[in-house]
Amino acid sequence: MAAVKTDHAVFVSIGSNLGGKLDNCLSGIAALTESGESSLAGVSRFYRTSPVDYADQDWFVNAAIEIRTTMAPLALLDKLVAIQRRMGRKADAVRFGPRVLDLDILLYDDRVIRMPRLTIPHPRMHKRAFVLQPICDINPSIIHPVLGQTVADLLSHLDDEDQRVIPLEDQPTLL
Ligand code: AMP
Repeated sequence: MAAVKTDHAVFVSIGSNLGGKLDNCLSGIAALTESGESSLAGVSRFYRTSPVDYADQDWFVNAAIEIRTTMAPLALLDKLVAIQRRMGRKADAVRFGPRVLDLDILLYDDRVIRMPRLTIPHPRMHKRAFVLQPICDINPSIIHPVLGQTVADLLSHLDDEDQRVIPLEDQPTLL
């Protein structure tokens, strides 16, 4: 008998700060959810966000989505890397620097994964308003499985005044 594949609840962050930023984000979401292995379960608002870590670059457009996927964590990571490459992101680009498309796995069910290629929860998600605010749009009561706090609590206790996260005036409709 064939094994039944279970659906996993996964949050993915999307960002772009080169070219048509919103269109790049929408193309990335479409590429991820058109395969049949992953479907869209939730979408945040889209935001204009100020660059973090490497400030001398253009503002980003950021959002987060919740998907239901049958893909295992590393298979999903491979898929995200392939989509980013296809959309023109260079493998040797400056870390935290400008990018056509950035896709990160934030949460995968309530799993904690520490592998050389993959850390879940994403190691910087709890410090970043441009990640926490979009997850809160989808579900503010999701609990960070390492810190044991809701994403809403993590966002309200962020004390980094420099991070600007401003909803776009025209929001696309995906669901
Ligand atoms: P970055 O350029 O910062 O987006 O880093 C990309 C690399 O981070 C990927 O090639 C992954 O091997 C690694 N990585 C580790 N944890 C994660 C994660 N949770 N989501 C996406 N990439 C990750």
